[in-house]
Amino acid sequence: MNPPPIDLKQYIREIPDFPKPGILFYDISSLLKHPDGWQLATARMTSVVCQWNPTLIAGIESRGFLTAAPLATRLGCGMLMLRKPGKLPGKTISHSYNLEYGSDSLHIQHDAITPNQRIVVVDDLLATGGTLQAAVTLLKKAGADVVGCAVMVELMALNGRKALETEVVSLLQYD
Ligand code: AMP
Repeated sequence: MNPPPIDLKQYIREIPDFPKPGILFYDISSLLKHPDGWQLATARMTSVVCQWNPTLIAGIESRGFLTAAPLATRLGCGMLMLRKPGKLPGKTISHSYNLEYGSDSLHIQHDAITPNQRIVVVDDLLATGGTLQAAVTLLKKAGADVVGCAVMVELMALNGRKALETEVVSLLQYD
């Protein structure tokens, strides 16, 4: 008999009022820490992302890096870092975007994009969609072909996928 399927949600902790009151934080630390859970999460992510036949996986700082790196290795792709201000050496291309309070920006190195790359953008979580869409906008501004986005966790009530001009897949959905 096959063992029962592993429910990955059991490894994601929900922390109330972090980083500020009223926010329910979905903490992937316990998923990362669990060897079987993390193996399974990256394997499942690989099997959905491979449909796009990517050549480059772009991870958003910082938890997107954790998700993007094993995906890139499994798919035999390169990996690109989308970073917060002041982290990348040399000339960069950036895009600013609004947050609930204030704003932020993402950066890539000016020569990060080369012709004919098929890029999938990856983050840990999709909430309003502002961060992922900022990443897509930045990459397109740099001339990239963005073929899809992927996240571990999607907060369905916020309908973030509506804010995205690119198709998105999520591994775990929460109401
Ligand atoms: P958004 O731009 O609203 O889609 O927010 C997504 C980004 O913020 C991701 O990089 C997440 O890491 C982080 N984030 C937003 N809301 C949460 C949450 N409830 N739990 C954990 N991370 C979150």
